[in-house]
Amino acid sequence: MEALAVDGLPEIHEGDDLAALLEDRVDFADGDVLCVASTIVSKAEGRAFDRESFPPSDRAKAIADRLSTITGEQKDPRFAQAVLEESEELLTESPFLLSVTRFGHITVNAGIDRSNVPGADLLLLPEDPTASAERLSSALGVPVVVTDTSGRPFRYGQRGVAVGWAGLPAARDWRGETDRDGRELGVTVQAVVDELAATANLVAGEGDDGTPAVVVREWSFGDHDGSDLLFRREEDDIVREALRQWTFD
Ligand code: GDP
Ligand code: MN
Ligand code: MN
Repeated sequence: MEALAVDGLPEIHEGDDLAALLEDRVDFADGDVLCVASTIVSKAEGRAFDRESFPPSDRAKAIADRLSTITGEQKDPRFAQAVLEESEELLTESPFLLSVTRFGHITVNAGIDRSNVPGADLLLLPEDPTASAERLSSALGVPVVVTDTSGRPFRYGQRGVAVGWAGLPAARDWRGETDRDGRELGVTVQAVVDELAATANLVAGEGDDGTPAVVVREWSFGDHDGSDLLFRREEDDIVREALRQWTFD
């Protein structure tokens, strides 16, 4: 497969038609998957805001005060308010805000970005990235993965993950297939949309490259069992449960 950054996309603003901008620059073919950084989906959907849009509640003020004390850096209660408004739940309030977003993705600061947002302070994730992916996928006729750069537990460094997808399953189920010894695979379910997101993120870059869209060419999901389970269900998530106990016991 190839991973090709789409050149020449402009700075994206609210109301821009991403599908049209992409169609002007790419001849989409069978076997393409479009991976697009959530940053430009958010910009097009009007998700850039100034801090002033988030007058802080008492809880946000308390969170910001506590974080300021712990980190020794002044934290803005309006930012904490934005995170609270984007979150279904906070799993930790220190040393950082680990958020369950309203669409089920768990990430630091509800995925709110402060880089690559000229003219505004904050960029929120799309409200429903899978719905965004569905709109793009039906306009372009190819599967779409909406990506974000995210940290991960246990390891330093960030990498791309899928926050929404359409036109392909999130995961390929390998169970029942065999390894090279003929031994049946019992547990492997491969989160292909995350692997596509990481591939695309590597090409897209994190700074001023200006390449938020990447076409993965000549990869296809194939004729396999799939599933759309990506965000772990609460009842299966022992890490979430452990964090709640660590935070509130
Ligand atoms: P995130 O991973 O979705 O949070 O997005 P990043 O801020 O890391 O940006 C990913 C890529 O998109 C980088 O190459 C940025 O330079 C680029 N980028 C971000 N916003 C825009 C935009 O409005 N227009 C263009 N052309 N590129 C952008
Ligand atoms: Mn981001
Ligand atoms: Mn990024």
